Amino acid sequence: MPRFGVIGGSGLYGIPGLEIVDTVKLSTPYGSPSESYKVGLLSGKEIAFLPRHGAMHNIHPHKINHRANIWGFRELGVERIISICASGGIGGEMIPGVIAVPDQLIDMTSGRPSTFYEEDEVVHIDFSEPFCGDMREYVFKAAEAAEEAVVKTGTYICVNGPRLETAAEIRAFSILGADMIGMTVMPEAVLARELEICLAGVSVITNFAAGRTADKLTTTEVIDTMQAASQKLRSLMKAFFAVTFSSPACRCGQTLQDAKM
Ligand SMILES: [Zn+2]
Repeated sequence: MPRFGVIGGSGLYGIPGLEIVDTVKLSTPYGSPSESYKVGLLSGKEIAFLPRHGAMHNIHPHKINHRANIWGFRELGVERIISICASGGIGGEMIPGVIAVPDQLIDMTSGRPSTFYEEDEVVHIDFSEPFCGDMREYVFKAAEAAEEAVVKTGTYICVNGPRLETAAEIRAFSILGADMIGMTVMPEAVLARELEICLAGVSVITNFAAGRTADKLTTTEVIDTMQAASQKLRSLMKAFFAVTFSSPACRCGQTLQDAKM
């Protein structure tokens, strides 16, 4: 049973170095995940990989079935997820090619199914710290071991898309405290927390956010920068899975305690 899950974002449709041993197609009570899960080995750990937008990148960000994706990981026995995403850089140090590990997020999405508890049970989970602190520490350890620089904090703001933002929106989001912007981390992160799965985001800054550059924003730039960053991601992932993991020191596993009305 794979204990680890990796979700790939735009420009990342596989984990470099993953030795695939099985391809698992699942259907869940919430529908079909974006793609079959590729289960394999990296640095001796069993990992399930899922490309969020499908292997052919044919799923729009606002149409991703996050509930099916996260539920599928749970069915596979995954307890810890690394969620990789392409983001636009808002803050000063968030320039293309930088890898950031966000510690906070602002959810500006709407109309996306964002809970597993919408029937009988009324559940309000604590989401003060939206990313698992334990997993973030392991990412930092991996970055150190791989000698890859990562920005260790930052607020990710999630929008619906699929259009990119206006320059005024980016100015407003900057005032709100956002450092990077993307279309995918929510509701992924909260759904993982509802299932008591640890999740950390690894955000590759693939472009300047609107208004920070005179150039037109293009998807080509996003894909090209993601591909250029893939060597960094490869060494980061290799080092991450080489880490010896101890029992989680975080509280993700007790999320549902005292959360039900
Ligand atoms: Zn955790």
